Amino acid sequence: MRSTELPPNVTCPWCGYIHDAATSAMRSKPDAVPEPGDVSICLMCAQPSVYTETMRVRKPWPGEVDITDPELRLAMSIIRGLDRRGVK
Ligand SMILES: [Zn+2]
Repeated sequence: MRSTELPPNVTCPWCGYIHDAATSAMRSKPDAVPEPGDVSICLMCAQPSVYTETMRVRKPWPGEVDITDPELRLAMSIIRGLDRRGVK
């Protein structure tokens, strides 16, 4: 897995958490670098967002993200189970 630095102040549109990096959660592409249109899952609230052309994230349009995708559901489930004590 490789982390990719994001532009400053990439903010989750769901909870306001500021992301400074992204890491692929896809087993088939562990070193993938995010591109516009890719799905991001917030490490704080586990909600899916979509990268824009400027590598910000926005809420997905209705039906844009397949939340039944097994890989996506697994990643969201793991993130929901993280211990966030001490995370700001
Ligand atoms: Zn969030």
